[in-house]
Amino acid sequence: MASLGEFVRITARRMGLSAVVFAAGLALSGYACQLHWQRSEAHQLEQLGDTAGNYASLLRQRLEQYVSATRALAAFFSASDAISREEFDNYIKASRVFDRLEGMSSFGYLPRVPAARLAAFEADAARTFPGYRVFAPRPDASDYYPLLFGQHALDPLRADRLRGIDYAAVPARRHAMQRAAAADEPVTTAMHTALRDPANRPVVLIFAPVRKAPTTAMPDAQGDLAGFIFSALYVRQLFGTFDDGRLAQQFDLEVFDGSVSAATTVFDADNVAHALQRDRDHVLAHRTTIAFGERTWLMYFYAKRTQLAAGSLHEAALVFAIGMLLTLIASYATVAWPRYASGKRAMRDFNERFAGFFEHHPFAVFALDPQGRFLQSNQQMARELGVPRETLAGMPVTRFVPKPERQAAARYFGDVMAGNAVAYTHQVQSADGRRSDLSVVMIPMSSGDTVSHVLGFAENITDRKRAEAALHASRQMLQAILDNIPQSVFWKDIDSVYQGANRSLLEAAGLHGLDQLVGKTDADLRWKDQADNYRQVDLEVIRSGVPRMRMQARDVRRDGEACWIETSKIPLKDDQGQVTGILAVTEDITARKYMEEELFRRANYDNLTGLPNRGYFNNQLDEAVKRAHRRAGLALMYFDIDRFKQVNDTYGHDVGDSVIRLFAQRIRFVLREADFVARLGGDEFVLVAEGLNEPGDAVVIAQKLVAAMAVPFDLAGTPLPVTTSIGVAWFEAGMTPEGLVKAADQAMYDAKRAGRNCWRVAGG
Ligand code: GH3
Ligand code: MG
Repeated sequence: MASLGEFVRITARRMGLSAVVFAAGLALSGYACQLHWQRSEAHQLEQLGDTAGNYASLLRQRLEQYVSATRALAAFFSASDAISREEFDNYIKASRVFDRLEGMSSFGYLPRVPAARLAAFEADAARTFPGYRVFAPRPDASDYYPLLFGQHALDPLRADRLRGIDYAAVPARRHAMQRAAAADEPVTTAMHTALRDPANRPVVLIFAPVRKAPTTAMPDAQGDLAGFIFSALYVRQLFGTFDDGRLAQQFDLEVFDGSVSAATTVFDADNVAHALQRDRDHVLAHRTTIAFGERTWLMYFYAKRTQLAAGSLHEAALVFAIGMLLTLIASYATVAWPRYASGKRAMRDFNERFAGFFEHHPFAVFALDPQGRFLQSNQQMARELGVPRETLAGMPVTRFVPKPERQAAARYFGDVMAGNAVAYTHQVQSADGRRSDLSVVMIPMSSGDTVSHVLGFAENITDRKRAEAALHASRQMLQAILDNIPQSVFWKDIDSVYQGANRSLLEAAGLHGLDQLVGKTDADLRWKDQADNYRQVDLEVIRSGVPRMRMQARDVRRDGEACWIETSKIPLKDDQGQVTGILAVTEDITARKYMEEELFRRANYDNLTGLPNRGYFNNQLDEAVKRAHRRAGLALMYFDIDRFKQVNDTYGHDVGDSVIRLFAQRIRFVLREADFVARLGGDEFVLVAEGLNEPGDAVVIAQKLVAAMAVPFDLAGTPLPVTTSIGVAWFEAGMTPEGLVKAADQAMYDAKRAGRNCWRVAGG
């Protein structure tokens, strides 16, 4: 009886101890689990924050591009005296704004129409757009801003439906127009609903003021407001489809205008404003502001907690489970101590033999029994698994292998028990929840015919794997950045074989993926006709190691449209400075070229006759005088239509214009290609003739000009006699351009005094 009583007492004491151990283990497991959850969540959140930050800067760039494209178009039209429909359409086509600026839905021109001029404006516009009228003009307004020219990216007919609508009738738009005119800079509207849009899409418009070209009398003065260029942006489309929808997939983006409130919401992917109402299901990954066109948008990037927690929960649950497991083992151990002690004794032999080797090995080293339980492990192994060595002994190794990998681990173990050495990598989950990637080698140890135990070595390769993953992620972000810029970027090796490119280049080449490009050369691509030229430039850069910047060339777009491109090629070098390839950036500069040419034409040519104007003449004369210093033979002639005022007075200004045009045509017709003729203004013209032998040659030209007028002009069947008076000046050594002009002008005056329809030579 006594011995039975003793047994019960001891058992009860042991059971009590095990209950305490159990309770303590439970508490510790819970704590480890929570700690792990927080830590891993913070890490994931940090990564999401970085990604969101990158997206924010891409969006910022995109919005800046919208503003600057709008500003550029307005600047272009500010330099024109009159804007035609063709010019507008040409510009939109040449600049490819819709292709380059995804999300931009339309561009338009809104002329300023003072209320008093409404009828005249409508009559004028109806010549281009039959039946044109301004819809429901507000009676109290002093000016209207009706749509005249417009283009829509997705719906070409939409501009027709909106034509004639006064854009200033919408308060949000009127306000932005006023701000834009005052600041002389593009201004973005508050968000509002698109006009006459069955889908009621939310839209913002960017208005940039167009000014009348400053007069020559006051070249620096700011011209009068001529109207506005606007661009419209479908907000949902921009944010919803940015980066092919990847942004929307990863984040719930919320955008507010100026301040955070329901009324100022610009975009909210899931229509639940987490920025307004704290919500346990979502966490803020990144917050920033973007200013564009006088508006400030607050951007909140939210991540779903479930998405964030999925990883953490799984890991933390495992931590808890392992903690519980250890707790149970510990509780069990307190009960089963004697059994454990005897197991330990059984291993002593083995330990003694391997102790030194285990202890000092830099890798994790362990021995398993044929059932896959730890017999022995070194400190490094215990560290990897986060369990004291004493506890580890006797535990099955599979406890530390995450479930999805257990089957593979069992297969390898079977293999090694069959007598083969195996090497593989797999994940382990330590007691504190850490996951590591181990590269494992296991060797069977035999005594006699059977494998008595397995010796294993494991190297922790987590950092290596993590670095690879980080590199992969940063490469992906770099590609996203490259894919969202309007320029084409590509890189080739020293044999000009393509190694990579961004989306813009793939689109230009008509390819669907990088795999269709990598490994190819220009000779395999759409522009194969140019392959030799491109290779030549590549070689130059590769051989010299010096970049070639901003090379301009004509090209043909995929749709067959001619265009201009500008390319820069930069050598890529390795650590030793050896050129390993080239990096190139190509930009379609057709719009810029078109604008430059157009502005050049406007600055240098006369609208009525198409002849060079006074500014062009002044430059030309300076150059001609410089040449004449080396080689004489320059004559300058001033000529003017006789009694032109009478033509205007008798037949009207329009007929006067026709006469000026016909006069210019006749002159051009009798002169040589190399002779430079310009219209100085009014009925006054000038001729620069070079390469003459003697003053007599100039006289011959003057006679020809007078004779060219002998036949009366034909004005729609009515003959009209027109004559001209000419002053001829011959260049003599030492004369300045001004001196030459004065002499020719004086000679023309002499010809007028002599009765007109004749020529006079200066100093003659
Ligand atoms: P003169 O024989 O002395 O040259 O007599 P004129 O009547 O031709 O006198 P002048 O050359 O001084 O006058 C030129 C007129 O041309 C003055 C102006 O009203 C008119 N004029 C100037 N620019 C234009 C224009 O672009 N179109 C038309 N139709 N008339 C113009
Ligand atoms: Mg005249």
